[in-house]
Amino acid sequence: MATQLVWFKRDLRVHDHIPLVQAANAGDCVGLYVYEPELIEAHDHDAAHLTFVNESLLELRTQLEKFGCRLLLRVGTMPEVLDQLHADLGFESIWAHEETFNDISYQRDRRVRAWAKTKQIRFIELPQYGVVRRLKDRDRWSTIRNQRMKQTPIDPPPQIHLPPAAKTIDAGEIMPVARFKVHSFDRREVQVGGEGNAVDCLQSFLVTRGVNYRSDMSSPVTGEQGCSRLSPFIAYGNLSMRTIVHRTAARIAELKEQKKSGIALEPTWLKSLSSFQSRLSWHCHFMQKMEDEPGIEFENFNRAYDGLREDEFNRSYFDAWCHGQTGYPMVDACMRALHQTGWINFRMRAMLVSFASYHLWLHWREPAIYLARLFLDYEPGIHYSQIQMQSGVTGINTVRIYSPIKQVTDQDPQGIFIRRFVPELADVPDKHLAQPHKMNLMEQTLFGCQIGKDYPLPIVDHQQRYKAARDRIHAHKKLPSTREASAKVYLKHGSRKTPMKRR
Ligand SMILES: Cc1cc2nc3c(=O)[nH]c(=O)nc-3n(C[C@H](O)[C@H](O)[C@H](O)COP(=O)(O)OP(=O)(O)OC[C@H]3O[C@@H](n4cnc5c(N)ncnc54)[C@H](O)[C@@H]3O)c2cc1C
Repeated sequence: MATQLVWFKRDLRVHDHIPLVQAANAGDCVGLYVYEPELIEAHDHDAAHLTFVNESLLELRTQLEKFGCRLLLRVGTMPEVLDQLHADLGFESIWAHEETFNDISYQRDRRVRAWAKTKQIRFIELPQYGVVRRLKDRDRWSTIRNQRMKQTPIDPPPQIHLPPAAKTIDAGEIMPVARFKVHSFDRREVQVGGEGNAVDCLQSFLVTRGVNYRSDMSSPVTGEQGCSRLSPFIAYGNLSMRTIVHRTAARIAELKEQKKSGIALEPTWLKSLSSFQSRLSWHCHFMQKMEDEPGIEFENFNRAYDGLREDEFNRSYFDAWCHGQTGYPMVDACMRALHQTGWINFRMRAMLVSFASYHLWLHWREPAIYLARLFLDYEPGIHYSQIQMQSGVTGINTVRIYSPIKQVTDQDPQGIFIRRFVPELADVPDKHLAQPHKMNLMEQTLFGCQIGKDYPLPIVDHQQRYKAARDRIHAHKKLPSTREASAKVYLKHGSRKTPMKRR
């Protein structure tokens, strides 16, 4: 039988993996994962990403072996790796999921397609998530996404037949991080990859942790446990989106059944899971933007905002923001938490970008790359869309400027999160945590924190920078040229449940 190659990328699982099932149906089948230095050593990549991939690969390899399949591991550039493998194995087809990642992967896929064409090899790319390739009209997107999510997740093939040549070929090794020139933060408490961990994470969220999701998600104190924490598993495809959607729907049905039969139910459960369902659809909604316009990795969604911040980039502000040394405890705690754990909740991500974009008036591009390396769940489609939204350059979203002072009183009034990540403030009383620089000298001595020495003075004045930024961004948004460009952005990318009325 003709050999089928399954190319695993950001879909490191065996369940609900349509390319794997279809390849196994089509013939003898072997798996491939390629460590691509051009992606791994790129500016938006971090060692933690590779570690997560390695953890996932270790499990994937064992799982595939159970079905009789081998996972080959190779290092190199595509399509050269394929070329060598084709000489060794002579495969007829390559099966993979469609990928919507960064520009490097986009160009790589184009090269692979061209190579496959010249070699007369079938390259079959099948949808993953609700992202629709070559989407003609945004009005139809949510219908297509919902139809896809309705289909039942599929089991792995019961048995996979290995092509004879693949039985003896060198399988390749899991590559240590040190093999690559990859940036590395000093992490301590990072999530561990793999399909098994992903399933456990989903289960614990749906059965226990998710009960107060709606109220827990906003604070970094409660969000750590109360959010699903599925994002890295989704980003690396340890779980399919469809599996999560189906398991959530099943849990909702179970809870409704319990309610009907009079079993006591936490009143927050159903609303929490409904909010969670919305976010799952946002995932695909945001990734669709990147699929439709890959240029948003580099350029403003709305080109009328070009030139607004570019010439005012203050490197010392940027450095202070990167290292959690801004003198604003919530900003600094979030940044330092990210350094250690690779995760922070949505609201705090938004606040970090808002602070960089408005208080520090930094163009979004460098902060975006820095955060990409920090976020274990880095997903360009969501990342660049959200960064641009939070820095106010889409023209179609409400401008939100977060007060880093108010976020302390709203989200961490007892300083649990701040004291954990900013130990200089460990003995500072709650009432001073939002603005420690307002302590007098006696208080600073008493609470063991000298402002300007142990902990920085605020690098900018909140009130003054907030007002200046608000006035500038609103004035720009109102310009006729901006409004005209915003209408076009909305037509292409705006979120809508029903078709838009066209003039
Ligand atoms: C500036 C900024 C950058 C971001 N960059 C990323 C990124 O690189 N990768 C990433 O996965 N998320 C990103 N997000 C969205 C969101 O913050 C994370 O998805 C979420 O915090 C991950 O934690 P969780 O899995 O516990 O989320 P939950 O709240 O449990 O949500 C479940 C899933 O829904 C999706 N989701 C949740 N919120 C959003 C949202 N606002 N937009 C799109 N999808 C969402 C994610 O897939 C998430 O895993 C970003 C948000 C902001 C403001």
